Amino acid sequence: MDKRNYTLLFIGSVLSVIGLLIGVKYIMKYFTIKELTATNTGLPNVPNDVQISALKALVKNVLDPARELFKGTIGVTSGFRSPEVNKAIGGVATSQHLKGEAADLTCSDKAKLFALIRNNLPFDQLIWEKGNDVQPAWIHVSFKANGNNRKQVLKLKPNGQYVTLI
Ligand SMILES: [Zn+2]
Repeated sequence: MDKRNYTLLFIGSVLSVIGLLIGVKYIMKYFTIKELTATNTGLPNVPNDVQISALKALVKNVLDPARELFKGTIGVTSGFRSPEVNKAIGGVATSQHLKGEAADLTCSDKAKLFALIRNNLPFDQLIWEKGNDVQPAWIHVSFKANGNNRKQVLKLKPNGQYVTLI
């Protein structure tokens, strides 16, 4: 090969590595956009590009690492919600579910998962949703891709009242 071919080969390799790095940024190991947009309301629930990016950031930074720490299956009971879906299930109008920034999680030991997320991972809000002092009914967790994550830990009591845990 002459010098020009080596140069092209080098440029090609550099572009491949860049492509790989961009791809890696969006790889979701344990969760799919399909399960993060599932709804049993029958209403349209299709995220746009910005909302999909937010879901991917949530998975990459919180859900996938949580799955690896928990070492067990984690189910998503509600991820992205269109305004129609959010209204139908009685979600608050400012819910981060509307932006693709939040997911409600369930698993075999929700208290353990809650502690793992709280102690090890970045998040905007982590909420112990209803249930009792031993187990929440479900876990709500959110993540902001812009990095402005508040690390708020809250508990939603069965009477609908929020209490700050930190
Ligand atoms: Zn939620």
